[in-house]
Amino acid sequence: MKNVLTLLLISFITLSVSGQKTEALKKLKVEYAFAPLPYAYDALQKSIDKETMEIHYDRHHRAYFNNFVKSISGTEMEYITMEKLFAEMSKYPAAVRNNGGGYFNHTMFWNMMSPDGGGIPEGELAAAITRSFGSFDEFKKEFEKAGATRFGSGWVWLSLNDQGKLFISSTPNQDNPLMDVAEQRGKPILAVDVWEHAYYLRYQNKRASYLSAFWEVANWKEIARRYNEALN
Ligand code: MN
Repeated sequence: MKNVLTLLLISFITLSVSGQKTEALKKLKVEYAFAPLPYAYDALQKSIDKETMEIHYDRHHRAYFNNFVKSISGTEMEYITMEKLFAEMSKYPAAVRNNGGGYFNHTMFWNMMSPDGGGIPEGELAAAITRSFGSFDEFKKEFEKAGATRFGSGWVWLSLNDQGKLFISSTPNQDNPLMDVAEQRGKPILAVDVWEHAYYLRYQNKRASYLSAFWEVANWKEIARRYNEALN
């Protein structure tokens, strides 16, 4: 009798543990969303034209999102957070790197801009920029230079490294500073897309003009929010 009870107890525990496991896996599956653009296509006209925004968001960004979801579908990668995928990017297929990067970078980029943007950073972030680069103007100059000199397609970033220091870097293709394949790693707080598709209709080959116009719509509120989040 005692043995039967023990057996029943063991079966019950085994069943509930395996049940919990399935439940835990279900809970851990990462859900990705194609977020709406936080403003109208023509809201950033002073820096970026309506047609560029529409093609960029609705075609390029959508394709990265769809292809990223497809590239992880039915694999263990569906259960790994994007941050962890990026941290071990070299282990995963190129399709995940290109499309996961494309999806993440663009989602961040839309929020780097606002129709109410422009002006100068404030508070802690402003102080950190001055400490790291000498002045806000020096920072802008260095940032624009890093973007302008990125050969081919890529991104320019302001990030916080693990020593709590700000640095400017650029990455090729859809890479970003969270990836283990990046030359300089850190938490990105500002991102600007320097692929031709981001500026060609209005600026043609003048990437530098596009970069200097970016400041007119820079969303310092969101950039400061990311900075404070990265500090903690
Ligand atoms: Mn783009």
